[in-house]
Amino acid sequence: MTTETVHGRIGAARDDLTTAQLLAVFAFAAALSFALLFLQEPLIHDSMHNFRHAAGVVCH
Ligand SMILES: [Zn+2]
Repeated sequence: MTTETVHGRIGAARDDLTTAQLLAVFAFAAALSFALLFLQEPLIHDSMHNFRHAAGVVCH
């Protein structure tokens, strides 16, 4: 009985660790993609801006 409880606790702790690690990886990936998006956004904006001017659209 006691052994089972200890094993259950170890198993639960292991599951918690895996979940925390998955969340950490997910958070890191989300932060990384957000950072890439944030860094690329001005470049995309500039290229769209240049494209609009090349197409003869007055935007400002
Ligand atoms: Zn412009």
